Amino acid sequence: MPHDHHHHDHDHDHDAHALLPSDPALRVKALETLLVDKGYVDPAAMDAILDFYQNKVGPQIGARVVARAWTDPAFKAALLADASATLAAEGLLGRQGEHVVAVENTPEVHNVVVCTLCSCYPWPLLGIPPTWYKSDAYRARVVREPRRVLAEFGLDLPEGQAVRVWDSTAEIRYLVIPMRPEGSEGLDAEALTRWVTRNSMIGTGLAERPA
Ligand code: FE
Repeated sequence: MPHDHHHHDHDHDHDAHALLPSDPALRVKALETLLVDKGYVDPAAMDAILDFYQNKVGPQIGARVVARAWTDPAFKAALLADASATLAAEGLLGRQGEHVVAVENTPEVHNVVVCTLCSCYPWPLLGIPPTWYKSDAYRARVVREPRRVLAEFGLDLPEGQAVRVWDSTAEIRYLVIPMRPEGSEGLDAEALTRWVTRNSMIGTGLAERPA
C-alpha cells in the first residue's frame, strides 16, 4: 500500500483553517452546528433563509428573466434599455441587487461578470454567489486573461468573438443574457428556463442545449 488516500488528503490540509473540513458542504455543516450549539442562530430560521435563497431567489429567477427575453422582444428591449426599472416593475429587485444592468451575448461579443473588489452579485436574480466567484484567483485573473479563465470553465470562445468583462460594484450588478441555444426553437419561455444555467448568466458558461 505505497500510496493511500490519507497521504494525499494531508497535502491539502496544511493551511491554518484546517479545523474545518475541506469539503465545502461539510464545512458549512460544521459551521452551522457550531452556531446552533452556541445559540447564535435558530436552525429553523437558518433553514428558512437557505430555502429562500436556494429555492425562491436562486438562479431560476434570473433564468426566467432570460427565457422571457429570448421569447419576448419588447421585454428584451426594455431589459437592455433599463434593467433596473424593468425588473423592479416585476418585483424582481431587492437587497444586494437594487441596480442591475443586463448585457447581451451575441456572436460578436461574449460578456462575463466579476467583482474585482469583493463579491458583488445580483442576489435577487441569481441567489447566493458560487465560491469561485468570490475567490481571489477568479477576481484577479478574469480581468487579465479572460479567455484563459473561461477555457478553464470549459468555455472555448471563437477567435472572432470579443470578450467584455464587467466589474460589479455595490451600486451596479450585471446580468448576462446568454445566446439562446441551438435546438431550442420550438420551446416556450417556461420550457426554456431550465436550459439557462447560473454560469451562463455570469458569463462563465453558455445556456445548455436542450437534450
Ligand atoms: Fe463586490
